[in-house]
Amino acid sequence: MSSPAPERRRSTRRRPELSYAEADPDAELERGGKRRRSAAGTPNRKSGADKGESKRRRGLAAIEDDDDDMCASEPDAEEMRREEEEEEAAALEAEEQANAATLGARRKRRVATRLMSKQKKEEDHFVGDPIPDDEARRRWPERKFHLLPFCLQDPQLSTKKRSDATEEEKSARCHYRSAIVEGASFNLGDDVYVQAALGEDDYIGRITEFFKGVEHESYFCCRWFYRVADTVITPKLLKVPDHEHDHERVFLSEEKDDNLIESIISKVNITYVGPNLTQQEKAELISNSDLYYDMTYSVAYSTFANVPPENGGPTGSETTSDISCDNVDSPREKTIADLPVPPDAQMETATLLDLYSGCGAMSTGLCLGAPLSGLKLTTKWAVDMNEYACDSLKHNHPRTHVRNEKAENFLKLLQEWDRLCKLYDVHNSTFLPRISNDDEDDENGANEPLSEDTFEVEKLVDICYGDPNKIERDGLWFKVRWKAYDSSHDTWEPLDGLRDSPQCIKDFVESGYRESILPLPGHVDVICGGPPCQGISGLNRHRKHKDPLADEKNKQILVFMDIVNYLRPKYVLMENVVDILQFADGFLGRYALSHLVAMGYQARLGIMVAGCYGLPQFRMRAFLWGALPSMVLPMFPLPTHVATKRGQNVPNKFSVREYIISYIVFLQVGNHQTKDVMAYKSRPNTDLQCYIRLNRKDMGDDSLGDATPKEAQLFDHQPLELNKDDYERVQHIPQKKGANFRNWKGVRVGKNKSVEFDPNIPREFLSSGKPLVPNYAMTFVKGKSLRPFGRLWWDETVSTVVTIAKPHSKAILHPNQNRVLTVRENARLQGFPDYYRLFGPIKQKYIQVGNAVAVPVARALGYSLGQAYQQGEFSGEQRPLFKLPRNFVPVAQATATRLHQGSSAGEVVEEE
Ligand code: SAH
Repeated sequence: MSSPAPERRRSTRRRPELSYAEADPDAELERGGKRRRSAAGTPNRKSGADKGESKRRRGLAAIEDDDDDMCASEPDAEEMRREEEEEEAAALEAEEQANAATLGARRKRRVATRLMSKQKKEEDHFVGDPIPDDEARRRWPERKFHLLPFCLQDPQLSTKKRSDATEEEKSARCHYRSAIVEGASFNLGDDVYVQAALGEDDYIGRITEFFKGVEHESYFCCRWFYRVADTVITPKLLKVPDHEHDHERVFLSEEKDDNLIESIISKVNITYVGPNLTQQEKAELISNSDLYYDMTYSVAYSTFANVPPENGGPTGSETTSDISCDNVDSPREKTIADLPVPPDAQMETATLLDLYSGCGAMSTGLCLGAPLSGLKLTTKWAVDMNEYACDSLKHNHPRTHVRNEKAENFLKLLQEWDRLCKLYDVHNSTFLPRISNDDEDDENGANEPLSEDTFEVEKLVDICYGDPNKIERDGLWFKVRWKAYDSSHDTWEPLDGLRDSPQCIKDFVESGYRESILPLPGHVDVICGGPPCQGISGLNRHRKHKDPLADEKNKQILVFMDIVNYLRPKYVLMENVVDILQFADGFLGRYALSHLVAMGYQARLGIMVAGCYGLPQFRMRAFLWGALPSMVLPMFPLPTHVATKRGQNVPNKFSVREYIISYIVFLQVGNHQTKDVMAYKSRPNTDLQCYIRLNRKDMGDDSLGDATPKEAQLFDHQPLELNKDDYERVQHIPQKKGANFRNWKGVRVGKNKSVEFDPNIPREFLSSGKPLVPNYAMTFVKGKSLRPFGRLWWDETVSTVVTIAKPHSKAILHPNQNRVLTVRENARLQGFPDYYRLFGPIKQKYIQVGNAVAVPVARALGYSLGQAYQQGEFSGEQRPLFKLPRNFVPVAQATATRLHQGSSAGEVVEEE
């Protein structure tokens, strides 16, 4: 009979769950609270057959049924059902969010113990003299030291202390440098395997302390290493085939636990790998070790980052910069004027690729923020499949190469482009390779004289990958300008159709390379983007909980990562709805993080609330930073404002009040407004309006270079036109705070707070004969909602700027005009500067604005990026959060600028 294996007391440790930097102090509360499902910019929650909002992030598809620039006659039953489902789903989601919020903070304690085996020859014990008390106190300042005389005086306190000590922190009588466990000797600083809880792999840790407990037990304190599967990445992610983690890689955490020394199993050889090693150097270095580590892991901030010097990382004392006093505990608050920003010409420069760019809000904000910390960031390329969004981006960023195509085609194009650049050796050669071999040419008669109906290629003017001629044939295509024809006769031709014009291809590739029309691997400094994930939509009843990646609608997150992997930028910033941290146990959020880490990037996850950065809307979004190991991982900026979900944001001590009133355009427009360019009718009457009306140059936007700013004009101040019936209905909504459809005649609130028709009041009818009170408003969310035909009020904030400006199920009516908020008003609520003009049919403009990353949020992230970027080589800075300088949004300064310049032409000062 075989004797049972020596039983060991098992250890536990706090298990990391998905957690995120909470830039918003209220985020925890909010996640636990009820959340609005129909938030703009969130991937929609609809079944595949649904229309409307689900198309918002699908670009071109959305355009098809958006040709009417008016609010549809009546919302159909499906639309209202969907809205209703959203409301119900919100309740469910609140529960999920509450869970997610608590998960974030939890870490299981690793309590490791083991019983002595029968074969044990000697007791495990410490060796050598105890470390002198003063040295021990200096080395382990956080340790509680057992105060013997005090405890003896008060036996009750002593007992209490003892019982506390068994739970979390242990008190120490004295410390040692070495111990013998099962005959083997261990020293401080040794890396060891530790017996884990039943069913778990042995833990891995570094011995940081040896000490005798109150009752003379022998403890060691262990700082844990995490295997990939122990982190937020979880074992499930390790099975995803498109990226692999190195099994020998572990991550050093800040987490520590005290355990009895008998739970130590054996030594393990773990090597530190620095950030700048080649693959070969790395392989050599780790060839003799069991495991290696190159990054730390923070449970609290879901962060994988470089190792600070004291843990084996590179020494970096000389890199400590000004920025280090900009931290959370800064003794002095810096203002924006204190920032040591170098003159434009001396600024470090960086290139940005904006993927899924929409109209470009995210990159605009990043490029506005980065120079404030000394980095001149330029959006060199942008990609979006929606042509109107591309039009908007092109107009506002004329020097950006804007590509109107699908991201998946863009990636294939990049690969082809790299191949062509290599083929033509664009760096330095005049060598002219042939496109195909001679036999083929002869077979195809390529050397025959031109027949009469053969056109001659003058030059190539564009390139794409895909199916531009819609002939169901994907491939590489060139746009050809034909000799003696103008651009209206340009056509897309396949590569193999251009065999006779190798010089044209060469010329195109060479000039394209010179002008950087497309990025090559290693040439992009920063990639930002919000890959849409409609497959996680709460209303998508077919969403795949078990395998979210199998859902075609979530594919873009993969494409995004593939592009990152191909181009290997220094920095990555991905934005998404917070559902990616919640749906299917946060699978997609974990996946994105996992992918970055597997690719060797440092990564940090955070949630930001737009209202926390000075906007009158809540809008919560998830952001994921990635940074090459040779760079410093950016921090998340702490809030400058306290935001509440609905109602009123509370400004903190250095902010202005951010309510809707500051953002409303004081120029009356009717329900029907065709003009999308107008003159301002009054001077800006608040600091904030001065700021939002600044011209590009004063705003610090370099998109137009040195061009003189045009005179100020008011763009896109147009509401989505209400149809006649709705317009009449809106006229019956009183102009007062809290007004909505419940104020209509004949509606009353019944017993269970649901609306009902008042039987004593006859139903009123509109001039069209339709009822004033439509049934859908009465039955929406079982009559409990206050949103249908809701008016916003001056002192309120909105929960999220939406992409669809219909009043049937949303509060989107202007406080004292009978219309919905205009595109411009929505754009202001998103923090767009007034000069930012939008293009496309009006519904498309609302979509672009509603989809956008709030500009002030992106601006704050840009500032953070600029800080990190310039620290260049890793300096050991590891903080996840930082404080923005005072007056980061220089509203008061803007007023001064405008007063100095006087109001610009085009602004007619007029009484409203
Ligand atoms: N970050 C943007 C908003 C992006 S919204 C901003 O701050 O303004 C998401 C965008 O993704 C939409 O504009 C949509 O047209 C685009 N999109 C969706 N699927 C795409 C795909 N496969 N390829 C390229 N763009 C896509």
